[in-house]
Amino acid sequence: MKLRLANKTAIVTGAGSGIGRAIARRFAEEGACIVIAEIRSETGKKVEKEIRQAGRKALFVETDVSKSISVEHMVDKTIQEFGTVDILVNNAGILIKKPILEMTEEDWDLVLDTNLKGAFLCIKHSVRYMIGQKKGKIINISSMGAKIGLHNDCGYCASKGGIMSLTTSLGIDLAPLGINVNAIGPGIIDTPMINDTATQGKDFKKDGIKKTPRGVIGKPDDIASAALYLASDESDFVVGQTFVVDGGFISV
Ligand code: NAD
Repeated sequence: MKLRLANKTAIVTGAGSGIGRAIARRFAEEGACIVIAEIRSETGKKVEKEIRQAGRKALFVETDVSKSISVEHMVDKTIQEFGTVDILVNNAGILIKKPILEMTEEDWDLVLDTNLKGAFLCIKHSVRYMIGQKKGKIINISSMGAKIGLHNDCGYCASKGGIMSLTTSLGIDLAPLGINVNAIGPGIIDTPMINDTATQGKDFKKDGIKKTPRGVIGKPDDIASAALYLASDESDFVVGQTFVVDGGFISV
């Protein structure tokens, strides 16, 4: 059977954990060479090892997506190792959950710089290779929080709404050049981000299950399946969309 991403190179940011790790592993199973652009070297190296042990090519590059110099270095390493960039998944993200009166300017900057500016920088530094080959796939990980309000998540929701707008806007700019820009808006997905009870509170998962019509919270692989579609040729006619994958949460 033909692998859906054979001979492609994919950069996945924040691939050391949760959704990013699942996307990196799924893309590798489908034949892609993977660049794990992750700020935490311990988890980044672990995922690199997992993919290599499965017989696929992977490269961990320690990267802070919020810093232009770090992103530029990561893209240079990608080109040195694999020669091109075909797919970029802007997945790295953080959550700072605070009411507005407790949210500091530093909190705001950190969330926006990581979640929104990070995607801008990764696109800026890698898109020229896609333009050169008149083909590319950019997948931004937004959130259902771009479409609905989430309590005490103003910075996070603003960053994810920004991702949705960035996706629509670059979607139309880059479509004539053969590059698809789309996003995924996950609902509640079982990853370390939501298992941090200090941030989320101890009943977050239980409440999430109750509020999700499907009756379960999502798995990282649910998002990897959507990402695989958006990374493959099957989605060539999909432009500037945010694909909500949430078990029905926002449709209630
Ligand atoms: P996670 O915490 O498991 O993974 C996030 C990864 O991003 C971590 O490996 C972290 O080290 C990395 N990272 C953080 N800052 C970085 C930086 N500056 N540079 C590079 N890497 C950095 O969380 P997750 O749930 O897998 O989240 C992945 C994405 O999905 C995030 O953008 C998140 O906002 C989004 N999302 C998650 C959920 C959910 O319910 N889990 C829902 C909606 C959207």
